[in-house]
Amino acid sequence: MKILVPVKRVVDYNIKVRVKSDGTGVETAGVKMSMNPFDEIAVEEAVRLKEKGIATEVVAVSLGIAACAETIRTALALGADRGILVQTDVDLEPLAVAKLLAAVVGREQPDLVIAGKQAIDDDMGATGQMLAALLGWPQATYASKLLVEGGGVTVTREVDGGMETVALPLPAVVTTDLRLNEPRYASLPNIMRARKKPIDTLTPADLGVDPAPRLTVLKVVDPPRRQAGRKVGSVAELVAKLRTEAKVI
Ligand code: AMP
Repeated sequence: MKILVPVKRVVDYNIKVRVKSDGTGVETAGVKMSMNPFDEIAVEEAVRLKEKGIATEVVAVSLGIAACAETIRTALALGADRGILVQTDVDLEPLAVAKLLAAVVGREQPDLVIAGKQAIDDDMGATGQMLAALLGWPQATYASKLLVEGGGVTVTREVDGGMETVALPLPAVVTTDLRLNEPRYASLPNIMRARKKPIDTLTPADLGVDPAPRLTVLKVVDPPRRQAGRKVGSVAELVAKLRTEAKVI
């Protein structure tokens, strides 16, 4: 079984995101970038399936600027076998990402795509679903458990009312939720080994896809600042303020 894992380069989750002064987006210059955390979970799941002898190959794909190769290297250090960089300077929207991934799927013919449920930079939460639709494949989103059995996958999904378990024939698209697994850290020997693993570079033109954006971002602004707190001198003062000033928001 071959597994394709899309991995996105995003602002590291420990970094406080800053809006660019001209309001056109989020500042990425000089900011630490990392693999999208949900994609780390996807890589971990794919690597575990390989370690169990269920998967034979794990291919990591990243789409974006040349620096996305670093994100692929991280996936390779975590246990993926090889990488594909679809290099473009265009700001990619989920539909463009899904079209590019669908073209990569056409070339690679994986049995399973495991993507993140959302990228933490723009929180689109759309790529996996669009990819499944473009391919005409079944999809299971927000997976918190994944079992490969009987020629298909059984996925437990986190839904509002609890957990839903669905069975899908392969090939299929699955997107990861936080509780699917706890990703490992890359060891130094594996980081060194990853340097020798191959990364192919393609362009959207090689894949016959026009990645031009269809949406225009009008503006990006910071969330409103929280007001500073105040210390009260006594319980009586606190109770009085709760009575007269506290509001339900
Ligand atoms: P999104 O729909 O943008 O929130 O992203 C959902 C998932 O799609 C991510 O967790 C990745 O697995 C994948 N994805 C989105 N954009 C990219 C990209 N530029 N390169 C690789 N994978 C991506």
